[in-house]
Amino acid sequence: MRLQDLCVAPIPPGFSLPEEVFIHPGAGDRLGEVASRYLNPPLLVLSDENTRKAALGPMEKFSRAFSGQWREMVLSGHAHTDDPTIAEVMTEGRGIGGILAVGSGTINDIAKAAATRLGVPYLALGTAASMNGYASGIVAVTSNGLKTTLAATPPRAILLDTEILCAAPLELTQAGLGDLLSKPVSLADWWLSHQVEGAAYSELPGRIVSEAIDSILAEAAGIPARSPSALETLARAVVLSGVSMVVAGSSGPASGGEHLISHLWDMQALAAGRPLRLHGAQVGVATLITSALYQRVLSIRSPEFVPPRLWEAEAERIGAEHGPLAATVLPEAEQKHRLAAKRLEFLRREWAGIRERLVSFGIPSPDRLRKPLLEAGAPHTLAELGVSREEARQTLLNARDIRSRYTVLDLAYELGVLPYSAEEVLGESGV
Ligand SMILES: [Zn+2]
Repeated sequence: MRLQDLCVAPIPPGFSLPEEVFIHPGAGDRLGEVASRYLNPPLLVLSDENTRKAALGPMEKFSRAFSGQWREMVLSGHAHTDDPTIAEVMTEGRGIGGILAVGSGTINDIAKAAATRLGVPYLALGTAASMNGYASGIVAVTSNGLKTTLAATPPRAILLDTEILCAAPLELTQAGLGDLLSKPVSLADWWLSHQVEGAAYSELPGRIVSEAIDSILAEAAGIPARSPSALETLARAVVLSGVSMVVAGSSGPASGGEHLISHLWDMQALAAGRPLRLHGAQVGVATLITSALYQRVLSIRSPEFVPPRLWEAEAERIGAEHGPLAATVLPEAEQKHRLAAKRLEFLRREWAGIRERLVSFGIPSPDRLRKPLLEAGAPHTLAELGVSREEARQTLLNARDIRSRYTVLDLAYELGVLPYSAEEVLGESGV
């Protein structure tokens, strides 16, 4: 199926996007046929111990069709998308004509990064609708402890076999819904960064993905029931969310302050040697928090703006708050701080119009966003993530430091909502 057939809005030509997407029962059985269309042997098949098992049927058929023309690398189920792992895959992939990613978030990201660096095409056989990165032109990678994104080339084709997706662990599917939940809030953040800092912005990415995300939010109850129709709707939405990022030229339309909160949780876990929680599970809960923050911020008609502190004082605060991560975080925070005075002047002048436009986005309340999470049985509380209230308060206060991108987390400081009302915001979010 052509990508355009998945989408009600026109996808403009000229973007590096997958040419075909197959979302149906038995889509995995087309692996050999699709691989021979887009990839030249020898191929490297990348999976992990869990995803390899999930795709056993399609892999058997593929291995018969590509007999002797492929080799495989099966990573541990705990692999991360980081520089050493990408380098290992590149070494294993020397001389290959393409990579076949058999897995979901981590495997797809590692394959996309390695294929881009090796200059070879890749295909994605997704084993779970757990995140929105399949079609995207970026990879979320941990580089020297900092969670960041790298530009990378999307797969030539994506196969999402609804039979495999239905059999995937439920928590992965629930995480896919959580990752998509952020869209109405992150779109507002993206527009805000466009206004305040001149980031590129257009309405098209929102139009590409909105109908598909609204459909899966309406069908969320089908997720715990493993309904093939709900899984198909979810798969379509995660693919189009990735497409929206390609068309936007950044992760802006799908990644705002809630993603910074999730990324900081990941960075803290990695620094402490703890296992990572599912990205989408964190994003779902973090979205309830940023939604509550938006409700607060948008209730302020005549703010008393808080002037920026001197960088030296900010650097000291970051050193104290981020501990072992401070050195990693400082350059991003400094970049953002450089524009602080200019930003404040702009906000003072334009707040009435900015507020009015942000209100027109109709950012859903925490209660409205919680409904699909509850229907899907997905995490909606800090307790389900194993995050204490105090940890969440700290993360809400400090997540803005890890990336130069402007979000509601920054705006809340400039309007004086943070740091003082952090506890109340958490209360209002209901997490
Ligand atoms: Zn995400």
